[in-house]
Amino acid sequence: MDQALKDRKTRQITIGGTKVGGNAPVVVQSMCATRTIDIDETVAQAHQLANAGAGIVRIAIDSEKEIPAVKEIRKQTKGVVLSVDLQENYKIADRVAPHVDKIRYNPGHLHHIEKSKTIEQKVKWLVEVARDNDVAIRIGVNCGSVAPAFLDKYPGDQLAAIVESAAYHCDLMDSFGFTRFVVSLKDSDPVKVMDANRRFSKRRPDVPIHLGVTEAGLPPDGIIKTRIAFEKLLAQSIGDTIRVSLTLPNERKHEEVLVGHKIIQDVAAGRFISVPDFGAGLNIISCPSCSRVENMKFVELAQQVKELTTYAEKYKITIAIMGCRVNGPGETDDADLGLWCGPTTVNLKKKDRKLGYYAYEEVLPKLRTELDRLIAERTSATAAN
Ligand code: SF4
Repeated sequence: MDQALKDRKTRQITIGGTKVGGNAPVVVQSMCATRTIDIDETVAQAHQLANAGAGIVRIAIDSEKEIPAVKEIRKQTKGVVLSVDLQENYKIADRVAPHVDKIRYNPGHLHHIEKSKTIEQKVKWLVEVARDNDVAIRIGVNCGSVAPAFLDKYPGDQLAAIVESAAYHCDLMDSFGFTRFVVSLKDSDPVKVMDANRRFSKRRPDVPIHLGVTEAGLPPDGIIKTRIAFEKLLAQSIGDTIRVSLTLPNERKHEEVLVGHKIIQDVAAGRFISVPDFGAGLNIISCPSCSRVENMKFVELAQQVKELTTYAEKYKITIAIMGCRVNGPGETDDADLGLWCGPTTVNLKKKDRKLGYYAYEEVLPKLRTELDRLIAERTSATAAN
């Protein structure tokens, strides 16, 4: 099986001092969950992740105010390969690129700003920024934020929409003669991650792929979900870099990297996990947190939700817990019950319907009531059939 990891046919690119793609070893990366403006904490976490074996460390940036922090973080992390996530503000790329080794943009977030410009114009500019600053690009497609133009083009087929969106951006890179890029196609459902990456890899076998299962949640379930997708894909020679996204307190964040390396070692040795019926019952998804997290009580809350809901294990119900108001409201829409965390309160939802917001200390009994109600609805619906 070791051979599968060596048989990757993608082109090789360099990101800082790290080689990605082709016959380079699969690179494990991770992301700082600290606030980027907290320079000391972010520098410490970047080193924590790199020391655990992260070949690339990502930080996120939302606004111009954080640019001086990125500059200072770069100065204090000379040996770390840094990637910056432009989130929803691609326009700051030219001011952060001088301080990092890679920029990540989300094709689903380009239409929000500078509406008078075409997507092609915006990507062309990002490529110029990357060239001028000698950095690589990640085209980071996410099922939770697919570009509306592709959702409209492939109604009811989200997988086609994300694969075609990624392929379109690769075509743009080709048209600008830019080859130093990777693509990621992420979702919280490992089966979708497998389908999307297999389809994309057939479509563009030359393009290096970064694998991720978003919002995989707390260990051990989050690790199992991730393994389900990564093992199969890596064994098919798909995946040049990986990130394991786990909900962990900051002092344990490096465990993401250790788990990533363990998965690669196990695939190389032909050791695979078998999880019959995984996903048949209660599914708790939670984000890995990032610089946007509004209250670190979110991690504790995710753990408490897991403990509180064990009695509902056999029901096929999804509960989502997200750490911020930016992605939280949207990312919880598809869950049966959703919680997204603000600075002092937690918002509770049933699918896309708001149920109310509660103090961190008060939300668990409310969740329990809603879960009991949902189970009763499901049970009576089954009895009626
Ligand atoms: S939901 Fe918010 S805090 Fe959580 S990873 Fe996504 S952007 Fe970061």
